Amino acid sequence: MAAQDPGPAGIEITGIEITGTAQREAWLRRVMPPVERLDGDLWSVPVPIPDNPLRYVSVYAFGTDDGLVLIDAGWGSDESWQALAGGLASIGAGIADIRGVLVTHLHYDHIGLAGRIRQASGAWIALHPADHGVLSLPEYRTAELAVAREAEFLSGLGATPAEAAAAVGAVADWVKFAGMALADRLLGDGELADVPGWKLRALHTPGHTPGHLCFVDERSRRLFSGDHVLPRITPNISAQRGDPVSPLAAYLDSLDRTRDLDVDEVLPAHEWRFRGLAARVDAITAHHERRLAELLAAVRRHPGGTPWELAGAADLVPSLGRVRRPDADLRRHRDRRAPGPAGSPRPSDRQRYPPARLHGRGHLKTSAGSA
Ligand SMILES: [Zn+2]
Repeated sequence: MAAQDPGPAGIEITGIEITGTAQREAWLRRVMPPVERLDGDLWSVPVPIPDNPLRYVSVYAFGTDDGLVLIDAGWGSDESWQALAGGLASIGAGIADIRGVLVTHLHYDHIGLAGRIRQASGAWIALHPADHGVLSLPEYRTAELAVAREAEFLSGLGATPAEAAAAVGAVADWVKFAGMALADRLLGDGELADVPGWKLRALHTPGHTPGHLCFVDERSRRLFSGDHVLPRITPNISAQRGDPVSPLAAYLDSLDRTRDLDVDEVLPAHEWRFRGLAARVDAITAHHERRLAELLAAVRRHPGGTPWELAGAADLVPSLGRVRRPDADLRRHRDRRAPGPAGSPRPSDRQRYPPARLHGRGHLKTSAGSA
């Protein structure tokens, strides 16, 4: 089915052919897509992300002589666990058959269930060294430290301590992220993953996270794109504490590296499978070029504005156009920029902290335009 699909900011994306038509139809009907057999021994198993507009992660299960290897594990909740177990049962397998989990990146919707799978089956967990390094940082291992660092980060961008605290939320909400599984195996760019019978090569695509991995199945010419390239939305590109690289520059480089891969189909972690990688990469690149130009114009219009102020600037936010949920989130953020009552702190009164970034829940900001 050929389709033109409006992008997050109303971009018309031509050259995209949706191959995951059952996924797309389920999306439109607001139901979970089916478990699908994509090849002899390759399945797509949707695992729900509770109360999140992304709705689900597509876990890919590869059959081998020795059991199953997964790409991604799913969100760490009981509901997600049941869905994964049920999906595997429907193909005649179970959690105990899992031999390994290839995690595309450190976000909770991808790695959340990995530790529980390892506990139940003895499976190994593989990550790129950069994401493993991030997850190993002390502020990723304790919720209190995570909250403190995130608040410092927002304050460093210009939020008042109260604004930062409100945006970060309660320590209790962060506890689950502090328990994310660390890797047993590290997988670098160009390495073949340990999936007997398959030729699955890791492709390091930093941007969404420093260690984001895509996988190319060289036999079937499929690209498992994780969150790097999605058919309708774009992944959030966030600064990462401890990572000196500009994440957007890294992301645009990764898009460049990905654009002309010789693949027939893209199998993303969210939404639906499609053909037309180059067209999709071009559309995402154009989106960032346009947003960068808008941001530059906003910086010129608001000399001396802090990143916090610019992110809520009325003349920057509305250009998100038809994206509803993040639009609402950003409007709320913008509204916080309204002048406070007399005596409330002015920007110049704000305490300044060195910039810091903790990315434990960037993907959790339940924004439909963000993965
Ligand atoms: Zn995701």
